[in-house]
Amino acid sequence: MRPKVIIVGAGASGLVAGIQAARLGASVTILEHTATPGKKLLSTGNGKCNLTNLTYLPGAYRGENPDFIKNVLEQVSVLQTLDFFKGLGVVLTDRNGYVYPNTGQASSIADALMFELDHLGITLICDCRVRAIRKDLTLTTSKGSMKGDSVILAAGSMAAPKTGSDGSGYELAAALGHTIIKPLPALVQLRCREKWYKQVAGVRTEALVTLKINGQTAAEDRGELQFTDYGISGIPVFQVSRFASRALDQGQNVTAELDLLPSMEEHATEEFLTDRVTRFAYRPADEFLNGVLNQKLTRVLLNETGIIKTAKTGEIKPAQIKKLTAAIKGLETAVISTNSFDQAQICSGGVDTREVDPCTMESKLIKRLYLAGEILDVDGICGGYNLQWAWSGGILSGTYAGRGKI
Ligand SMILES: Cc1cc2nc3c(=O)[nH]c(=O)nc-3n(C[C@H](O)[C@H](O)[C@H](O)COP(=O)(O)OP(=O)(O)OC[C@H]3O[C@@H](n4cnc5c(N)ncnc54)[C@H](O)[C@@H]3O)c2cc1C
Repeated sequence: MRPKVIIVGAGASGLVAGIQAARLGASVTILEHTATPGKKLLSTGNGKCNLTNLTYLPGAYRGENPDFIKNVLEQVSVLQTLDFFKGLGVVLTDRNGYVYPNTGQASSIADALMFELDHLGITLICDCRVRAIRKDLTLTTSKGSMKGDSVILAAGSMAAPKTGSDGSGYELAAALGHTIIKPLPALVQLRCREKWYKQVAGVRTEALVTLKINGQTAAEDRGELQFTDYGISGIPVFQVSRFASRALDQGQNVTAELDLLPSMEEHATEEFLTDRVTRFAYRPADEFLNGVLNQKLTRVLLNETGIIKTAKTGEIKPAQIKKLTAAIKGLETAVISTNSFDQAQICSGGVDTREVDPCTMESKLIKRLYLAGEILDVDGICGGYNLQWAWSGGILSGTYAGRGKI
C-alpha cells in the first residue's frame, strides 16, 4: 500500500515536500486554502524569485536553536536544491551568489513545480481550509475530513497574509501541543520618532545601519538605505529588523545609528569637511555638502547640528564641523515600532524547533506529523535564504513522510 501523505499548504515548502514524497512512491494530497498555489512564491524577489544563495553566511539564519537549522541545511544543501530545480528544467542564473531563474520570472519556478505535481499525479485541492488536525492525523477541512498516514504542516507564517499565510498554521500546531515562539514581523521597515522624516521621504543613500538595543549594538548592515515619511527602509534595515521587532516587543529601548558616509573613517570625514569649509567658503551653508549627500538630507543634518542654512560656508565653526561629522557618521534615530505583518516579508518566531527532529522534520510530540518552512522558528536574512529554508525543510520532510511507516 502506498503511504498516504497529506500536506497543509501549497507554498514553497509544501510543493517541494509533495514532489519529494510522491517521487518516493507516496500518494500525495496538498490542501491549499487560497484559490492559487504558490501565491507568495510569485511575489518573491520582486517577481523574479531569488530562490537561494551560493554564499554561506554564518549569521544568515536566526532562531532559538541554531543547531537545528544547521542540521537541516546540511541534509538538503544549496547544491541539492540547485539540482532539484535543474531537474525540473529550470535554467538558473547566479548574480554574485544570488540565484534566480534565468527567465527573471518567479512564475517559472511556480510553473515548474506545478508541471511536476501534475506529472507525479499529486492531488492539489485549492479553496480547502484545514481547520484542525487530530493526533491520529485526521484533518477537518472546509471540504470534509480526511486521514493521512503522514501529515506535513507547511502552512507558512503570518507575514504577507494576502498571500495566504494568515497564521492559522501556528494555531494548528499549537492545538497539537506545540510551543509557538511569538511570531513577529521581520524583514520589515522600521518606524522612527523624529519629525524630520517627512522632509527626507524618498531619499536613498548608501549607509551603514547599526541597530542598538538599550545602547548595545545588536546588528548592523550596509547597503542602500531608503528614507520614508515615517522612518527607514531598504535592505540594510530589513536585515536588522528582526532584532528591533523582538526587542520592541520586550519593551526595550531601540535606536539605529545611520552612518551616511560609510566608506570614510570618522577622522577622515572631519578633515574632508574642514577642507570644504575653506574651499567652498563662498557658498551658502545649505550647499556645503552639494555632491556629497542628498540635499534634503543635508538640510536635516545642518538643522540637527545648529548650522544656519543661510549662513556662508566659511562661517561654519570647527565645533560645528565636529558635530556635523558625528551626525553624518552616526545619525541617531529612535525606533518606535516596525511595520505590520502586512508589509513584512517573513516572521521571526514560530514553532519551537526543539520540538522537531532535525534529521527528519518529524514532530517530537506527534508521530508522523512533519513541519516545514516558515512555520518554524527560523528566519533568514534577505538574499534567497528564506526560500532555501523552505526548500530544505520541504524536501527533507517529504523524504521521510514519503517513505511510509518505518
Ligand atoms: C514580498 C515577498 C518577497 C520575498 N522574496 C523572497 C526572495 O526573493 N527570496 C527568499 O528566499 N525569500 C523571499 N521571501 C520569503 C519567502 O517567500 C518565504 O519564506 C517562503 O515562501 C515560505 O514558504 P512556506 O512554504 O513556509 O510558506 P508559504 O509560501 O507562505 O506557503 C504556505 C501556504 O499555506 C497555505 N495555508 C496557510 N494556512 C492554511 C490552512 N489552514 N489550510 C490550507 N492552506 C493553508 C497558504 O495559503 C500558503 O499558500 C519573500 C516574501 C515576501 C512576502
